[in-house]
Amino acid sequence: MPRVGVFGGTFNPIHFGHLLIADEICEFLELDRVLFVPASVPPHKPAGELAPAADRFAMTELAVREHPRFEVSDVEFRRRGPSYTVDTLQALGTRGDLCLVIGSETFLDLLTWKDPRAVAALARLVVVPRSGKAFDPDAPASQKVLRELGLEGFVRPEAAPGCPEAPVLVEAASLPISASDLRRRACEGRSLAFRMPASVAAYIRDHRLYRQEG
Ligand code: ATP
Repeated sequence: MPRVGVFGGTFNPIHFGHLLIADEICEFLELDRVLFVPASVPPHKPAGELAPAADRFAMTELAVREHPRFEVSDVEFRRRGPSYTVDTLQALGTRGDLCLVIGSETFLDLLTWKDPRAVAALARLVVVPRSGKAFDPDAPASQKVLRELGLEGFVRPEAAPGCPEAPVLVEAASLPISASDLRRRACEGRSLAFRMPASVAAYIRDHRLYRQEG
């Protein structure tokens, strides 16, 4: 059974922070591939700041080209309505053993998702502490999420093969890059260099994404 990382996000836009953690997790967990799954209609993000779904998908496709194990999935574009991860994992279940890659701030938000217990049952959670946001797996907020999901504590990547159900905490390199900062930069006409693949920066410029006039 192939081991598949599922990396969902708004990718508004995709940047090196996303790509680096995906590469590191691919290595740490010896994944066969990482599927980037851009959300067509992200339930948790303000619609006003969203680039069109087709542009976010196109930028994600450009970004993953250089990595032999990265792919983009259009599974959320083939459904109508909000892009719920539980539905995505159900649809991807035939692809292999699934690991769901999320940043630590997303993990702390998981209980607001649709059917979070099913999410945790359909894929092993892989959590990356996000740069600039302290994450304590033993803090009451983390423990509450684990409890409500029916999970015990985190394991480290080296213990992961022996505990196939346990969520994994991976200290992958998290760059201090956020999509919100990049949107602000694009809006102000500032540099996007060294924060995302040059092909994605060129796409943003050419399509005038994130400009005030739209
Ligand atoms: P925004 O700033 O618009 O909220 P974002 O980059 O946080 O954007 P997404 O594109 O939805 O939002 O992120 C997808 C996933 O990638 C989330 O789980 C998020 O926690 C994680 N992530 C995003 N940026 C980083 C980073 N620099 N390091 C580690 N994880 C990240």
